[in-house]
Amino acid sequence: MRLILLGPPGAGKGTQAKMLKDKFQIPQISTGDILRQAVKDNTSLGVQAKTFMDSGQLVPDDVVIGLIRERIKQVDCKAGFILDGFPRTIVQAEKLTETLTEMSLAIDTVVDLEVKVEEVIERLTGRSTCPDCGAMFHAESRPPKVQGVCDGCGSSLAQRKDDNRETILKRLDVYQESTAPLKEFYKRQGNLGTIKARGSAEDIFSRVCEMVR
Ligand code: AMP
Repeated sequence: MRLILLGPPGAGKGTQAKMLKDKFQIPQISTGDILRQAVKDNTSLGVQAKTFMDSGQLVPDDVVIGLIRERIKQVDCKAGFILDGFPRTIVQAEKLTETLTEMSLAIDTVVDLEVKVEEVIERLTGRSTCPDCGAMFHAESRPPKVQGVCDGCGSSLAQRKDDNRETILKRLDVYQESTAPLKEFYKRQGNLGTIKARGSAEDIFSRVCEMVR
């Protein structure tokens, strides 16, 4: 099963991708996570990506396309994968199709998680993430059992550097301009499904599962 999760920042792509990964035992490929890890490790990729990420802009297409090309050829992707945060531009989507075609593969379903702008801002400003295992929490809707501590691995939770109001607004602009056109792109290919990403993560997950089944 090969899936793409589309949707603006804060739509819950990461949360749904993790749940899908556990249920279907296929890897979650998050370009955001890969890039954050590279920044943390101070690799040349991280150095290249950091300024774009901190200001809410997209990392250049050729950088992320190269990452994905390498990743989906790895052996753990044989049974499928979940793309979370990729593609984000038409060029990325075209290159993805090209790479998959070369491998005689295709995307099965593109799940578009639809959410209102006000809700995105509320979700992202209250969000904290575990830098070690990637678990996500929210001050009101999904608080950790102990404040500031990850329920899963016990590490200290952190707020993402780009989860501040100014950068969130920039990320939303970038989404509208560069990523939203992908809905039309995949609609034309006939594999787009839209889900209202309202309610609990579990409710949304059951709608996603119904769609991808
Ligand atoms: P995310 O965790 O998906 O919200 O991504 C965080 C940041 O990483 C984005 O704001 C971009 O700067 C960068 N990024 C992640 N995925 C991509 C992508 N597919 N294309 C370009 N930049 C990306």
